[in-house]
Amino acid sequence: MTISDKLRAKIETRRDDLIALTQDLIRIPTLNPPGANYREICDYLDHRLLHSGFETELVRAEGAIGDSDKYPRWNIVARKAGKTSGDCVHFNSHIDVVEVGHGWTTDPFGGQVKDGKIYGRGACDMKGGLAASIIAAEAFIAVCPDFAGAIEISGTADEESGGFGGVAYLAEKGYFSPDRVQHVIIPEPLNKDRICLGHRGVWWAEIETKGEIAHGSMPFLGDCAVRHMSAVMREMEESLFPALAQKRTEMPVVPEGAKQSTLNINSIHGGEPEQEDDYTGLPSACVPDRCRMVIDRRFLIEENIDDVQDEVRSVLERVREGRSGFDYDIRELHRVLPTMTEQDAPVVSSVAKAVDEVFGRAPQYVVSPGTYDQKHIDRIGRLHNCIAYGPGILDLAHKPDEYVGIDDMIESAQVMALALQDLLGK
Ligand SMILES: [Zn+2]
Repeated sequence: MTISDKLRAKIETRRDDLIALTQDLIRIPTLNPPGANYREICDYLDHRLLHSGFETELVRAEGAIGDSDKYPRWNIVARKAGKTSGDCVHFNSHIDVVEVGHGWTTDPFGGQVKDGKIYGRGACDMKGGLAASIIAAEAFIAVCPDFAGAIEISGTADEESGGFGGVAYLAEKGYFSPDRVQHVIIPEPLNKDRICLGHRGVWWAEIETKGEIAHGSMPFLGDCAVRHMSAVMREMEESLFPALAQKRTEMPVVPEGAKQSTLNINSIHGGEPEQEDDYTGLPSACVPDRCRMVIDRRFLIEENIDDVQDEVRSVLERVREGRSGFDYDIRELHRVLPTMTEQDAPVVSSVAKAVDEVFGRAPQYVVSPGTYDQKHIDRIGRLHNCIAYGPGILDLAHKPDEYVGIDDMIESAQVMALALQDLLGK
């Protein structure tokens, strides 16, 4: 029996353990916002990983955005050193899940097993991936106890809200610096036979148009900020959206529709605030003096963040030229630059070889339309040998009746273990 056969067989014998581990993780409702039960899930992982021979550390992201005594941002970093010196392979998973939403037919925190799938909020995004990486590391340590280097597993907070109390905090503290960690695999649900090299960039901004309040029966005595915003939207429809559709990327972004620049209008608020549903009165008669729009621009590795901003500013300036009384403010809310790991980077080659061995075909290389914690590892940690690879179907993330396939978890755990063997087993 070759070592890879042994690794694959070992993981197969841990099927029940993998299922139970995934269920246990799903049953701790780590909803974010607000960021609940991080300590509980870290204690659970601490117990598990100590038992598997890891040294563990619980790190609270004190002072980070979102951290409070009511909702502390706890993270866990576990490390198992090998027999000799060598590289460190780090598996990073976020422990938070998004709100449940409507339309579930199973208990979102029940971890029900049905037809080879485990159901629950976070099943695919990404407690299934976390469980698979733990089983992979444990199996590798059991089969190859004399490995070189080190294996790290982290469970981190707040990915769903930007990762500032999680990976960003740890990266600032040096946990992802290249002298400590050399290879990072993030088991996000990108499908078991795909390797995700990176993501597009993000620029969020708030545009505000200004007007003047007046009585609604005499709108000519005021100036309607919502009408000014509608002029902005008209200009966007006529010039900006068609221009964005023309910008295509060489990045292998999936799905196909995200291979171009995109812009979403996240929200518009103008005039009187909306009343509660149980309010039975009528609105008042006022000309809106403020209108705000939040835009979410996703950009490509071929684009420059300054050009992305100038493009939106020039839309606003064109409106100003053609419209009397038009005035606006624009404010950046959030920015993340695009990132993409080279296809010949060591972690990519090792996982690719492992995918080939388990599935008998080369992996598909993809880039994510949205960002994930790789941004902090890349920008703050300055570690560029990082990918997302894990079980589960991305389209199920954040949806009702989210699930992860048990066979998919087994196979991707096999890929992770074979990649460990390639990187640390020599
Ligand atoms: Zn995720």
